[in-house]
This record gives sequence, structure tokens and C-alpha cells, in this order.
Amino acid sequence: LPAPRVVSPQAADIAALLPRPTPESDKYRRGVLGLAAGSDRYRGAAVLAAGGALRTGVGMLRYVGQPEAATEVVRRWPEAVVSALDPTDPVGHLPSRVSAWVIGPGRGLHPTAVMELEAVLATDLPVLVDADAVTLLAKRPHLVSGRRAPTLLTPHAGELARLLPGTERADVEARRLDHVTRAAGEYGCTVLLKGSTTLVAEPGEPVVSNPTGTPLLATAGSGDVLAGVAGALLASGLSPWEAATCAAYLHGLAARRARDGAAVSASDLFDALPGALLSVL
Ligand code: AMP
Ligand code: MG
Repeated sequence: LPAPRVVSPQAADIAALLPRPTPESDKYRRGVLGLAAGSDRYRGAAVLAAGGALRTGVGMLRYVGQPEAATEVVRRWPEAVVSALDPTDPVGHLPSRVSAWVIGPGRGLHPTAVMELEAVLATDLPVLVDADAVTLLAKRPHLVSGRRAPTLLTPHAGELARLLPGTERADVEARRLDHVTRAAGEYGCTVLLKGSTTLVAEPGEPVVSNPTGTPLLATAGSGDVLAGVAGALLASGLSPWEAATCAAYLHGLAARRARDGAAVSASDLFDALPGALLSVL
């Protein structure tokens, strides 16, 4: 196979893609993000993904999750509309009027999470699949390959290895470009591979190599924030390739700006995201 073409976007390319609210905007038209992240055990993942989405800009964030996680989300982000997950009927209680979904960070691998993933991927909405949901998807690839609606997978190297049976994390790290391209081809969707240089692949498109990354992002929870950023952009109507490209760019920029280059923790990214956005526009 020929080596895929690789492009590296500049600020002007990102600015041209980012959504801008207009006088005709209302909260529904700006995009409603459905968020199925976190759990009572991993409440932070819910808060981090919610913050990434809200600081990027959404018309509405609709969170669904276990009771303590939902309480934590609304405590930190009172603008979030939250509903408690019913473990006996996770599917019957999914929020309606959603324009895109983020599913997976800190969600767990239990049967309820499987049912929920099946239901979300059965919709005709754009879906971002991250973390635990990537792990679940690896054993159920038909859930994505049978979809017509846009799908974005956001694995790190270990999660990408799970998506490609017989592949180890070290294989992915040694040839990241080959593996992200292969995963996009096999699943027939957009794949954002996280790591030292984040790559975005989609069948028929050049691979994006994100120029803003920084090892400051190698800290727990930063991937959950990225899921929220990309989810907000998906909900606003960007394609998965556009949303992934812009999210990786803004996320890296936010990390560099957050503490003037000193160490950041994932929640430092919230306040840095608006400045990163303004610096691009
Ligand atoms: P996760 O693996 O889900 O926790 O996400 C980690 C986030 O940090 C992703 O956005 C990665 O791209 C980023 N990241 C991790 N390690 C590095 C690194 N060495 N250099 C740049 N970014 C990194
Ligand atoms: Mg992660």
C-alpha cells in the first residue's frame, strides 16, 4: 500500500472549520451533546468530559449516568441537564433531542455499558467512542461497521491495539501512521490516535498530524477532556474528521497556554480552552 498523505493543519485551517454562533442560533440548532461518560466509581471522567464540551461551546449538554456521577456533574456544571441511569433499563432512559453522542470515558465494561453502547450506536446520530467503549467495541466491530451515521473512535495506543486483533501496543507505537490508517479502513470510520503526535485517519482522506501536542498532556483525565471537546464539535455539525482535527489542535493549544508551559492537570484545561479558541479565530 502507498504511504498515506499526511497534512499538518495551521491556525487558519482550524479557524475555517470552527462553528460560529449566528443571530439565528438557538440552543438546539447549536447542537445538543449527549454524554454517557463516567460512573459512580469514576465521577471525574464525567466532569472532565462535560467541561471539555461546555468550554468548547454547545447549545446544551445532556448527561446520563449513575446517580453520584450525575450529581457531581451538575454540582460542577449547573448548566448540564442530567438524568440518572436506570441499570435495569439503560436504553429506555437515554435522553432525546440529542445531536451527537460521546460514550465511554470512565464508563466501565459491565453488561449495562454494553447495552448502552449498542443503543447509542444503533441511532442515526454522530457518535464519538472513547476509552471503555473502545474496549467493548473491539469485541463487537459490527456495531460500527454496520453504521451509516458518522463515527469517531478516539483510542490511545493500547486501545487501538485492542481494535486490531493480534496487534500489541508496542506495534502501534512503532508504526503509528500504519496502524491508525489500518483501523480507519477496517472499521470504515474516522480514528483519532492519541499520543505524542496525535493522528487522525479516515478512509479517503489525508492523515492529519496534529502540530500543537505537548507532553504536558500526558496526565490522567486529559483524554476525557478531549472527548468532550470533540463531542461538542460533532454536535455542532462538524464531520468526524473536522471535529477530531480541530479538537486535537485546540486541546494541545489549551495545554500549552493553561499554566504558561508549567505542569497542567486535566481540569486546568477548562479555563484555557476559551483562550485557545480565541487565539485561533
Ligand atoms: P488518554 O490516554 O485517554 O488519557 O489521553 C491522553 C491525552 O494526552 C491525549 O490527548 C494524548 O494525545 C495526550 N498525550 C499523552 N501522552 C502524550 C505525549 N507524550 N505527548 C503529547 N501528548 C500526549
Ligand atoms: Mg482515555
